[in-house]
This record gives sequence, structure tokens and C-alpha cells, in this order.
Amino acid sequence: MKRGAMETKCVEAGKFAPVVDYNRCEAKGPCVAACPYDVFEIRRIEAADYAKLSFLGKIKSKVHGGIATYAVNAERCRACGLCVRYCPESAIKLIALA
Ligand code: SF4
Repeated sequence: MKRGAMETKCVEAGKFAPVVDYNRCEAKGPCVAACPYDVFEIRRIEAADYAKLSFLGKIKSKVHGGIATYAVNAERCRACGLCVRYCPESAIKLIALA
């Protein structure tokens, strides 16, 4: 468990998941560092996600090296909100799962 886990109010895993807006994400990484449950990973943007970017989003992606943040362990999310708070691009939202 990383720093921050004990400072936040969390819910049971599986009730919420983070969603990254790839038109905003610049893969700067504060979400990776902030998440107490190792939900995120930075890697090359997937072709399908790149194809859905706006014109400006594609330019931004190229400028930032074609990398993006993925919630590879979204099932571990406990909705503490740290990733939302620390993302400098306001690129992350939490969605309630059914
Ligand atoms: S809200 Fe964000 S920081 Fe908190 S557990 Fe979920 S993914 Fe990690």
C-alpha cells in the first residue's frame, strides 16, 4: 500500500473505476504515484484510442511522445479520488460501476 492510502476514505473495490480522457492525458504520471492501489501504468497509446482522438488530441499525443496512462488494474480502484485530485490535466473521472 502506497502513501496516501491511510489518509483517504475509500470504498470497497469494484464499485468505481477511473476513466482517462485521452484527449487530455499527457502521461505526466502523478496519478501513477498517487494511487495507493497501483491502478495505473504509462505506456504507448493504443491504436484504437489514438484513432478516437480529436485533431488537437492527436497533435498533443505526438508532442508528448505517443504515451498515455492506462488503468490496467481498474478492478483495484477504491475510489479514494487521489488520481482525480492530482491529475494536472483533469483527465481522470471516476465512474460508478453497475
Ligand atoms: S480513485 Fe484513483 S487513486 Fe484512488 S484507488 Fe481509484 S484509481 Fe487509485
